[in-house]
Amino acid sequence: MRFAAIIVAGGRGARAGGDIPKQYKLLAGKPVIAWSASALAGAGASEIVIAGAPEHADLCRAATAGPSTVRIVEGGPTRTASVRAGLAAIGDADAILVHDAARPGLDAEMIGALLAKLETGASAVAPALALPDTLRRTDAGGRIVEDVARDGLMRIQTPQAFRADALRAAYAALAPDASLTDDIAAVRANGGEALLIPGDAKLMKITYPEDIVMLERMLGAERIICVGNGVDAHRFGDGAFVTLCGVRIPHSKGLIGHSDADAGWHALVDAILGALGEGDIGAHFPPSDPQWKGTDSERFLRHAAKIATDAGARIVHVDVTLLCERPKIGPHREAMRARTAEVLGLALSRVSVKATTTERMGFLGREEGLAAQATATVERPA
Ligand code: MG
Repeated sequence: MRFAAIIVAGGRGARAGGDIPKQYKLLAGKPVIAWSASALAGAGASEIVIAGAPEHADLCRAATAGPSTVRIVEGGPTRTASVRAGLAAIGDADAILVHDAARPGLDAEMIGALLAKLETGASAVAPALALPDTLRRTDAGGRIVEDVARDGLMRIQTPQAFRADALRAAYAALAPDASLTDDIAAVRANGGEALLIPGDAKLMKITYPEDIVMLERMLGAERIICVGNGVDAHRFGDGAFVTLCGVRIPHSKGLIGHSDADAGWHALVDAILGALGEGDIGAHFPPSDPQWKGTDSERFLRHAAKIATDAGARIVHVDVTLLCERPKIGPHREAMRARTAEVLGLALSRVSVKATTTERMGFLGREEGLAAQATATVERPA
């Protein structure tokens, strides 16, 4: 059976975090959308048309540069409009598979099972899973208003496979502004019959950042623990306070630096970048660039955390040691921990801040400056 595929990739994916839509984030080192595109290409799809948002066309092209059968078209404002755009771009095929870009756990076995079922004469086939949880309907205030029997209820996944003529006829019969959550609905609305086959937990839809980590485990992708370290020092100068780990501490001197000279967070940024193999703070925020002058180091730390998220990594634990004779760090230690945990989105138990002196030895002992050392433990794709 000659089959083509449409991958719907119009989502902006705000819930999955970061600036990049979830379908272009890395899953075990490979963009989410590329997993399905290569599974479809490997299973012999004659064409793979991706309907995506025009502003992400470059991301999409870069993510799916492998298979030569991939084409990218401009999607519409709704899923249904995107499928319509995909259908218009597809040439001759007996069957068309319509798939969501955010479901990367597609394999040749599932594609084969869908097509085999379609061969039995159905006009549409979808993978589906039973619901293990109890279902209840609630009102807008969250109060339970009804128990719902789950017998016969199924969670419908994608890809959904269609006889090409049945899908085209169903779309031709839809109102121009129709907006459906899947394509079985279009075929059924047009009088077609749809069958279900057993779904696959791996075909879960990525919605939240944790979903990527969960899917990597399900796909058996290796994740490794990496430890990065960072060191920073700043010279004391005129001033009435120092900023360390995001906390302003009154002092008889200030710290000299291009930014706010927060040596604690600078060392921590380097530790996180180190665990990710992403260079150092100077490469990301060159001191020669005037835009970082006087910058609150929170921006640097948030940036490092975002690089980790974008790489599919998870910061497990951080530990910062401040080295100075004065100011006394002890009274501010908990506030520093809390600020660091807040900015990194970590539980307090995953953040350590501590301090030591150098027994009056060296430049730290002479109070010429202050230094910091940090370690970041990061779990990430191998
Ligand atoms: Mg620094």
